[in-house]
Amino acid sequence: MEIIHYSKAHHQFREKVRNFMRKEITPNIDQWEKERIMPRSAWKRMGEEKLLCTSVSKEYGGLGGDFLNGVIVTEELVRANHNGLGPTAHSDMIIPYIDSFASEKNKKKFLPGCITGEIITAFAMTEPDTGSDIASITTTAVETGDEVIINGSKIFITNGINSDLVVLVARDPAVKDSNDAISIYLVETGTPGFEKGQKLNKMGLHSQDTSELFFSNCRIPKENRLGEKGKGWGMLMEKLQQERILTALVSMASAEYILDWTMEYFKENSGHGKPVPKSQANQFALVEMATDVKIGRTFIDKLIVEHMEDKNIIIETSMAKYWISEMAKQLGGRCMDMLGEYATLENCPIVRPWLDARSMPIFAGTNEIMKAIIGKFMGL
Ligand SMILES: Cc1cc2nc3c(=O)[nH]c(=O)nc-3n(C[C@H](O)[C@H](O)[C@H](O)COP(=O)(O)OP(=O)(O)OC[C@H]3O[C@@H](n4cnc5c(N)ncnc54)[C@H](O)[C@@H]3O)c2cc1C
Repeated sequence: MEIIHYSKAHHQFREKVRNFMRKEITPNIDQWEKERIMPRSAWKRMGEEKLLCTSVSKEYGGLGGDFLNGVIVTEELVRANHNGLGPTAHSDMIIPYIDSFASEKNKKKFLPGCITGEIITAFAMTEPDTGSDIASITTTAVETGDEVIINGSKIFITNGINSDLVVLVARDPAVKDSNDAISIYLVETGTPGFEKGQKLNKMGLHSQDTSELFFSNCRIPKENRLGEKGKGWGMLMEKLQQERILTALVSMASAEYILDWTMEYFKENSGHGKPVPKSQANQFALVEMATDVKIGRTFIDKLIVEHMEDKNIIIETSMAKYWISEMAKQLGGRCMDMLGEYATLENCPIVRPWLDARSMPIFAGTNEIMKAIIGKFMGL
């Protein structure tokens, strides 16, 4: 039984996305991995084909689709062996803040470019001394007259180098209670006092650029604040759920990709390198992994449906994020052991998705934080 009921339009959209990936992503992805960035031209091509910000309304030039369109683009990116979270982060993790909380004037100003790929977004929360403990961020935003003065630095920012528009989390230093101190602002690249740092060379997710960002007396218009002052915490809590579902989804699709490839290799028992021994130990390992993948897929698809129905799934989302990302990490390692020395070569097809999936237990709230959330909401 299908858990997600994709419409005919969704199926056609997937076919279009798959064709696009085949023609425009797959032939170039190795080069982007080497350059450690997805070029702006590729973002624009995705925009031209209406593959970015798919859930944004037609009023701003968007596809006017639903969350399933974003799910499809994310899955097909992973299946094209391009796990760079860049477009998914832009379209379905960052844009929702602008779409839900920006003023109408700013939506009209920014959303059309975000949809066409001319404006690439980044989300800046993490700081050199603050990761999980969001309440401890030290980047300040002081509102004075019609302006906001920003000071501080951010690190590990996805799309940081490519970014034209940063959704920035900052605090009012005059407000003691962190719940009331945090606000979210839009900062445009080119604003005096905003500088980008170096591109960080991660162990995986190579074609997703990641960087530091610095703000020194950076002045932005007050109208660039999202929603009311001091309401940033609530916005984060609202939007982090979708980010965690998508992180679980990327892990899920990576696990499926790695297992499918390993199964085929095992069945063919030929091709590159040495054959995998057809022992019962290997057969049982594959069966166990296929079971994990089935359980994970059933769980994530159910959550996608419930997320779209606006159900309260805080506990289940955190469970899926930690369990599926951990499962993908273990599965990649197991497949690598089974394939032997061939899997130690960079060009072995399971290496990239495995290294990419390895960051997922850390990204979007670490798995320990997921367990802390589950414990809290279970009343433990
Ligand atoms: C590939 C990648 C892309 C990223 N992109 C972005 C981005 O675009 N924007 C952005 O703002 N950030 C981004 N991040 C940063 C990410 O959000 C942080 O890495 C994450 O929040 C964890 O913070 P940390 O790494 O500083 O770990 P820390 O918070 O320092 O934690 C270190 C260890 O302590 C554990 N720990 C911490 N607190 C607790 C607790 N209360 N209970 C139990 N254990 C705890 C953690 O689980 C972890 O194991 C990205 C990270 C990665 C890896």
